[in-house]
Amino acid sequence: MPPVSDSTTAPHVAVIGGGICGLAAAHRLAHRGVRVTLLEAGDQLGGLGTFFRHDDHWVERFYHCVMPTDDALLGLLGELGLRDSVGWRETTMGMVVDGRRHPFNSALDLLRFSALRPHDRVRFGVVSLLLRRLGRGRDLDHLRTEDWLRGLYGDVVWERLFAPMFGSKFGAAFGDVPALYLWQRLGRERNVATRGYPAGGYKTVIDALRASIERAGGTVRTSAPVRRLHSAGDSAILTLTGGEVLGADHVVSTLPLPLLRRISDEALVARLPRTDLPYQGVVTGVFFLRRAITEHYWTPVLHSGTEFDGVVAMSELAGTEANGGHHLVYVMRYTDRDSQLYLDDDAAIAARWAAQLRGLYPELGPDDIARVRVFKAPFVEPVYPLGYLSQRPAVAVEDTNLLLATTAHVYPEVTSWNSSVALANDVTDRIPAGRDQPAIAEPAR
Ligand SMILES: Cc1cc2nc3c(=O)[nH]c(=O)nc-3n(C[C@H](O)[C@H](O)[C@H](O)COP(=O)(O)OP(=O)(O)OC[C@H]3O[C@@H](n4cnc5c(N)ncnc54)[C@H](O)[C@@H]3O)c2cc1C
Repeated sequence: MPPVSDSTTAPHVAVIGGGICGLAAAHRLAHRGVRVTLLEAGDQLGGLGTFFRHDDHWVERFYHCVMPTDDALLGLLGELGLRDSVGWRETTMGMVVDGRRHPFNSALDLLRFSALRPHDRVRFGVVSLLLRRLGRGRDLDHLRTEDWLRGLYGDVVWERLFAPMFGSKFGAAFGDVPALYLWQRLGRERNVATRGYPAGGYKTVIDALRASIERAGGTVRTSAPVRRLHSAGDSAILTLTGGEVLGADHVVSTLPLPLLRRISDEALVARLPRTDLPYQGVVTGVFFLRRAITEHYWTPVLHSGTEFDGVVAMSELAGTEANGGHHLVYVMRYTDRDSQLYLDDDAAIAARWAAQLRGLYPELGPDDIARVRVFKAPFVEPVYPLGYLSQRPAVAVEDTNLLLATTAHVYPEVTSWNSSVALANDVTDRIPAGRDQPAIAEPAR
């Protein structure tokens, strides 16, 4: 075996993955005086929050926003001196059904919502008002979303609205996802909601995290995929590209479980949690438009002949200045990484989705789409099975020094930067602090 490159005696923690969870974990550990090395496979940090260049700006590949209830994330932003950089705006929701656009925010909007018959509109309104209360105290983790919503809203609302909305998020198994997921989500999001976006975009947060980790003595490496992980007893060996080997006293893995399994050696695979947890991926189209198409931040698109099933008008939250005056619009389809759409060519998807967007918003003239980019991510979140609370894998992998901090662990919280930060805080609390250090050093301004 090649020599282990770390020869100092202070305990060393390796964090695998440089998305928000890995960055938050490394930040916290470094500021507790722990010797930490973060290893990210890609050439950018940020994971699902990574970005691309548009003119002289950086734009997220996948739409992201902060919610006022994101306490863990806002706490981290405070430590980085970025909390006040979040710009908050009141945002609204639209709905496109059968190609028709509707506002979907007030009682009046609902009364005029011609996609449902009048008595279904009333039922929809009443049940929606009571839904959070109706779920309280019930074992929603063992109740299928379909059974819960069909029973409360009736067949028509389920089939017209919820089935396509959940089907788009969770694929074929959508009806089976525990109702707890939806209940939790409703606690975080509303149609009319205050949403936040950090000035300079998510890259600013990612850059600040890197700087903070390095200032506290941690090491951050990009283009450093972990190829092999051995973890048994109280030692771990990580093999990187080119055969470089790192030793660690603790490992925190933030990789989706199927990816972790792929790099684990045989002995470790035998100790890892269940293998058959399916994950949804996503395809997004990012449009730079010369005109606005909607005033609503979020618009589900149902029964309208599009491959994408939602539109996020990011400029309604972040303004147009950050994108060189363009209106930034994301369209998305959550899908399995083996699906035809996921495997399709980006340019072909971009062309089709541009035509479909024009179909929905015919006011878009021939020159109004300045640019389209398509991005894909294979692992966004698990499709949670019924009773997942009791099946959720433990954070500590038995008889190893490996800790797991992944999107499979945040349930029933919604997968988000907030839940990843909260999880990172929880997981790193299990690792003993290093030399004496102030809890969090003053951020650079
Ligand atoms: C379309 C979309 C919209 C979203 N909207 C929001 C939103 O509005 N608000 C919000 O808060 N959240 C949102 N999210 C969710 C949020 O992005 C995720 O919950 C969060 O980014 C997960 O972070 P993570 O660090 O756990 O995982 P990831 O971001 O997936 O990070 C994992 C990292 O591991 C790296 N890696 C993989 N293999 C290896 C290896 N062998 N060695 C080293 N590194 C490796 C990957 O390159 C990646 O950087 C959205 C997600 C998507 C896809």
